[in-house]
Amino acid sequence: MIIDGHNDLVLHRWRGEPTQHLDLDAARDAGFAGGFFALYIPSPRVPDPTEIPYAVPLPAPIPHEEAARIAEELFAELCALPVVRATSADDFRDGQVTAIVHMEGAEPIAADLSNLEEWYDRGLRSIGLVWSRSNDFAEGVPFRFPSSPDIGAGLTAAGRELVQACNRLGILVDVSHLNEAGFWEVAGLSDAPLVATHSNAHALCAASRNLLDTQLDAIRDSNGIVGVNFAVTFLREDGSLVPETPISEIVRHIDYLVERMGIDHVAFGSDFDGAVVPEELGGAAGLPKLVAALQAAGYDDAAVAKITHENWLRVLRATWRDARRSRAPSGSAPARRPG
Ligand code: ZN
Repeated sequence: MIIDGHNDLVLHRWRGEPTQHLDLDAARDAGFAGGFFALYIPSPRVPDPTEIPYAVPLPAPIPHEEAARIAEELFAELCALPVVRATSADDFRDGQVTAIVHMEGAEPIAADLSNLEEWYDRGLRSIGLVWSRSNDFAEGVPFRFPSSPDIGAGLTAAGRELVQACNRLGILVDVSHLNEAGFWEVAGLSDAPLVATHSNAHALCAASRNLLDTQLDAIRDSNGIVGVNFAVTFLREDGSLVPETPISEIVRHIDYLVERMGIDHVAFGSDFDGAVVPEELGGAAGLPKLVAALQAAGYDDAAVAKITHENWLRVLRATWRDARRSRAPSGSAPARRPG
């Protein structure tokens, strides 16, 4: 069974475009059991950078009302997919595709959080405070190479409220796309495991979207997880957009993250349908090739099971059902929303 940290299939459906990487039937046959399905409000497209170094400015903010309207359309597309929507880690099963409703950028949430519980009731279980642009809650990290993720200010007061509300409700807070200042504020505030659904090791690829060793250590210490992003621009040491990048580049990041954080804190976060991934992999139907590459690199069955699904399931259980118990001192009762 393979659980994955990020895909943009819903955006493709909303745009009326065919999927590039996620034919759901072929994916299921390849062992793909689903994962995080992003509701992403698109910014106007900018061409992919063709030169290194690059520094893409942050796109303009998207007003809440506009984002909320588009989010309704995106959510309808997700609901029309032949998938089970997850509200429990037990919803993931072999032979079916299960979707975690994930908001990539919290613009559809009102700054006073007045519609957050409504979204929770509709199945929202994961929020990235920002995509790579600013909003009422935080500042995203701009796409730059080479660059530290330490660009811009941290969370707003509303952002801090949102993190605490997510903890209270049991909504996962995703730090991918957040700048470094925001990351450390989430790390200090959140009582759930820290999660980067689709990011890589900055030590191996110095893109601003990747995680510094100090961030990886904080994620490990929170019993959290990093989903390795298959985007070639976040894998390659030179940061270039080269589709011929081999699967071994994914394994290189997994090796590094396992070495730094331990086997319990590494998983997949493909970015299928949202990025250029290695041609050799192709898409979700090629996932068995990645599993074979891990086995060839020396990962035994127990290690492969952790990377492919067990780590995600542990983090989901800790975050959705028992966020407080996982990090707070023993004896403190988890504060749950009534009803
Ligand atoms: Zn993303």
